[in-house]
Parts: sequence; structure tokens; C-alpha cells
Amino acid sequence: MGKSIIVAGGGAAGMCAAIYAARNGASVTIIEKNSVLGKKLSMTGNGRCNLTNLDMREECFNPPARARMKEWLSTYGVEDVISFFKSMGVVVKSEDGYIYPVSGQAMSVVNALINEINRLGISVNLGEQVKGVKCLEGSRVLLNTNKAEYEADAVILSMGALSGAKSTMSTGDGYYICKNIGMTVKDTHPALVGFKVAEGEIMPSAGVRATAEVSFILGGEVLAGEYGEVQLSSDGISGIPVMQASREVIKFVEEKKPVYAVLDFFPDYDESDFNALKADMLRLKDERTLEEFLQGFANSGITDMVLGRMKVGRKMKMKNISVSMAECILDTYRNVKIAIDSSYGYQASQVTTGGISLGDIGSDFSCKTAPGIYCVGELLDVDGRCGGYNLQFAWTSGSIAGCAASL
Ligand SMILES: Cc1cc2nc3c(=O)[nH]c(=O)nc-3n(C[C@H](O)[C@H](O)[C@H](O)COP(=O)(O)OP(=O)(O)OC[C@H]3O[C@@H](n4cnc5c(N)ncnc54)[C@H](O)[C@@H]3O)c2cc1C
Repeated sequence: MGKSIIVAGGGAAGMCAAIYAARNGASVTIIEKNSVLGKKLSMTGNGRCNLTNLDMREECFNPPARARMKEWLSTYGVEDVISFFKSMGVVVKSEDGYIYPVSGQAMSVVNALINEINRLGISVNLGEQVKGVKCLEGSRVLLNTNKAEYEADAVILSMGALSGAKSTMSTGDGYYICKNIGMTVKDTHPALVGFKVAEGEIMPSAGVRATAEVSFILGGEVLAGEYGEVQLSSDGISGIPVMQASREVIKFVEEKKPVYAVLDFFPDYDESDFNALKADMLRLKDERTLEEFLQGFANSGITDMVLGRMKVGRKMKMKNISVSMAECILDTYRNVKIAIDSSYGYQASQVTTGGISLGDIGSDFSCKTAPGIYCVGELLDVDGRCGGYNLQFAWTSGSIAGCAASL
């Protein structure tokens, strides 16, 4: 007879673990506290679900996890994810290496997983909250919930972390459950998240999207730098490059250190190209106003920020502005410095940094301190860049643990 396995948490990692275990002949039950499986998965990739990425390297994960990720990705990598979904009838496509379901719908991924769970006869208990686990003699595991007590040969903890909207039920239950079985939980922070700017910062009154190089600095040190489409609002800064940089920055922001975002809105220009551009612009130093002069140079919201910061009147005639002042205004578009106040928090973040220490986890995701118990997914101290890396880790850890637990 196959082993009995309980999967605590029916998100991406848990559903994947359950399927692999059941395919190996285990008798599997998923216990999920939400009223549906895969709630967060259904919201991923702006509703399109960026399943994984063809450019899959360990460098795309947090530094302490990299050596382990190299090993895990060699066991279960991108091609394995694509085959896994193909085996359930999900056709995928690449958009510059970012892998999405052809349907363009995250729900089609969730439904394919649920159909496979049903096809394999996996039991699903919805609306039930796991409260604790305990190792019993004879390598059995006891799991208790708000409704009942269960005994199994193995338990896979896949309860996620703290990131995501309230409806995803990401309340970090896994942390105290793991602490109670002797595991180390590293400090957590929201990551892949935007930032609120400090009070008094001059920001565009309406939302602006613009390509920029954004660097986060603290004192003289550059904490992180990224290129891409930045989103500015009246009170904050976000967009993919900001989110990508957030992991390196968040700890200092939460410690209330003076972190600044420095934006270069002409990132594709080297110094000589930009000098040539300025020289061209300065030929227009005539009767026109500064506002008219800058109209075709940059987005008006960014111009509002630049002029507001420099305290220059937009109605000034260009002929009355010195060449050095005009140059200084244009140069400012390459160096807009914004003080950061705080992050938008866990509910606006896509992933949690920190979590269960990988030192407590074996190569098959078993807990070293608690035989028969496995930990997978975002609950662990692994976080990746935006672009399919976090789901790749959910599939990788889920599949490896599901197979190992069922042997
Ligand atoms: C808005 C958004 C967009 C994202 N987009 C992408 C993307 O496109 N690509 C990508 O790679 N990553 C993306 N991510 C990250 C990705 O969704 C997560 O990394 C991934 O879902 C983690 O999977 P998981 O199974 O570990 O956790 P989760 O998906 O959070 O699943 C955990 C499950 O456990 C349940 N649970 C919690 N506590 C208990 C308990 N005590 N008892 C029973 N059940 C419990 C929860 O209800 C939940 O269903 C996105 C995240 C967000 C928030």
C-alpha cells in the first residue's frame, strides 16, 4: 500500500507536491484553510501566471539560497515544469523567455492542477486550518487542525508566507508551526514590493510610467540598481525595476535608515550622447517658456517633479535663463533623488524574504529536526526575482518533496 501523506496548504507548491506524491501511489490529503485551492496562483502574473523563465539561474535567487538552488534546479528545472504542465494539457508559450500558459489565464493553470488532483483521487479538505505537527514514534506524524487530528506517514508543510492580498490567506502560520518543531525562522520582510516616498517629496500629481535606471542608495553605498519601466504616483514609486531592487533595500527601509531612490530618466544615453542632446536643446533658447522648452523633452509629470524640486518657474522665458542654469535643469532629469519612507507592505508584495532556514532542510526538503515532515515553497528562506522564479521554486520544491515523501 502507498504511504499516507498530508499536504498542509493547497497553493502552488502544495498542489504540485500532492500530485507528484499521488502519481507515485501515495494516498494524499490536502488541507487548505481557504475556501478554494490556489487562490494566490490565480492572481499571479497580473492574472496570466508567469509559470517560470527560460533564463533560470541560481543568481536569480537570494544569495544564501543560491548554492542549494543550483542543486535543486538541476533535479527539477524549467523543462520539467513545462513537461509537468504539458502532462495536464496546459500549453505554454515564451514571451522573451517568460513562460505563460497560452490561454493567458492563470485560472487555466489552477483548474488544470485541480482536475489532476481530482483525477488522482486526492482528498481535499477546504476551510480547515492546520495548527500544528508532531513527530510520533515509528516515524509517523501527527497533525492537528481546527477541526480534527490526523496521523500520516509524512506531512508536507506548504503554507506559504506573508505576501499577497488578504484573500490569499498568507498569514505566516507555517512559521510558528515550524518553530514548534525546532526549526529556525529567519527574519522576514516583504519583497518584490514598491515604496512610499517620504512626506514632502515632490511627486507627479497623476501616475507616470517612464523608463529609467533606478539606484537605491544609503550614505555613499549603492544598495541596488535596476533598469526598466518605473511607476511614479503622488505618494510612491513602484514598477518592475523597483520591485526587483526591493529585496536589497527593504531591510534598511524598515530600520528607518535614510534610503534614497535616484532616478535617471535618460538611461539609454551615455555622457557624450546626452551632451549632444543638451546642445541641440539649447538652440531653442528663445522666446519660448521653460514649460514649452521642456514639453517634448520628457513626460510632463517628470518635468513637474524636476521643476518643483529646483523651484524654477515654468513660465520663465528661456532667453532669461542662463546656459548653465538650463544645462543644470536638463541634467537633473538624470539625477532625481527621492527619499523613501516605507514599503507598501506584505499585502502589496509578491514574495516574502526570510523564513525557514535552509540549514534545517535536507536536499529532498525534509526537515532535519523532524523526520517525516517536509517544508516547501515560499515558507522557506528562498525568494527569486520577478519573472517566474518564485513559482519555479514552488514547482521545484513541491515536486522533489512530493516524490521523496512518497518513497
Ligand atoms: C500578486 C502576485 C503575483 C505574483 N505573480 C507571480 C508570477 O507571475 N510568477 C511567479 O513566479 N511568482 C509570482 N508570485 C509569487 C508566487 O505566487 C508565490 O511565490 C507562490 O504562490 C508561492 O507558493 P506557495 O505554495 O509556497 O504559497 P501560496 O501560494 O501562498 O500557498 C499557500 C497556501 O497555504 C494555505 N495555508 C496557509 N496557512 C494554512 C494553514 N494554517 N492551514 C491550511 N492551509 C494554510 C493558504 O491559504 C494558501 O492556499 C506572485 C505573488 C503575488 C502576491
